[in-house]
Amino acid sequence: MTDFTKPLGGQTILVTGGTGGIGAAIVERLAQEGARPIIHYSRDRQSAEALLSRIGGNGAIVQADLSDGQGPALLWKQAIAIAGRIDGLVNNAGIRTEVSIDAEPEIWRSAWQREFQVNFFAATDLCREAIVHFRAHGGGRIINMASRAGQRGYAANFMPYGATKAALLNLTKSIARSFGAEGVVAVAIAPGWVQTEMAEQYIAEFGKQAAVVDIPIGEMAQPSEIAEVVAFALRPSQRSLNGATLDVNGGSYIR
Ligand code: NAD
Repeated sequence: MTDFTKPLGGQTILVTGGTGGIGAAIVERLAQEGARPIIHYSRDRQSAEALLSRIGGNGAIVQADLSDGQGPALLWKQAIAIAGRIDGLVNNAGIRTEVSIDAEPEIWRSAWQREFQVNFFAATDLCREAIVHFRAHGGGRIINMASRAGQRGYAANFMPYGATKAALLNLTKSIARSFGAEGVVAVAIAPGWVQTEMAEQYIAEFGKQAAVVDIPIGEMAQPSEIAEVVAFALRPSQRSLNGATLDVNGGSYIR
């Protein structure tokens, strides 16, 4: 009989950046809905272990540095060694690097390259691994964590971030169009500000008012709101979401 309280029962889902503000909320939500999360972490093994124990140990942790070109393939290999079969991939890891148009060319270039490596190329490599795996196993899901910044453009000192997220939105659509017939469902999430460390850095510099001034509901999203949307998009019953970009921005970007 279907357990309606566990719509993700029996699913193994790899979550990158699983110990971050949004990532940890996703992991907890997926576990509540019956999934077995594989928690990817970069440096903070202690947080990954604590998170795994918070979800009752029903999952696993894997380490990989996604700023390294070999990182994504190593991550996938470890996850497959642990799980055998993976049903879903959440590309959630991300960075937001500040670089001014007045920066030295070397600094400018390295900021763009690092941002694209972590936010986009790592995701493309993991999407490729996942698609090949899903094809051979009757399908699977990919959720890419993009951003409102990728939809409407971004602030002068954070242009690389917006560009990586725009690329991620486009990649998600191409996957949806190209591999939907083979059982691959791809969805992008586009949050506005979410109350995590990434947002706190901005608030520390510019103040909360600057962050919420153009959000009609006057508040940032909570990580739990994003997590709920991710879990919903992973439900096997939601195949027709394929190719969608789900905006979670309090009305600050309406298209
Ligand atoms: P966070 O800084 O709390 O988490 C980021 C995660 O990415 C961390 O787990 C970190 O370990 C991982 N990561 C960073 N560099 C890595 C590397 N080199 N190798 C492996 N992992 C690495 O940030 P968050 O707010 O939880 O963001 C999660 C995702 O949501 C990001 O993709 C971010 O761009 C996106 N997002 C955040 C907001 C926001 O306002 N917080 C808004 C829109 C989109």
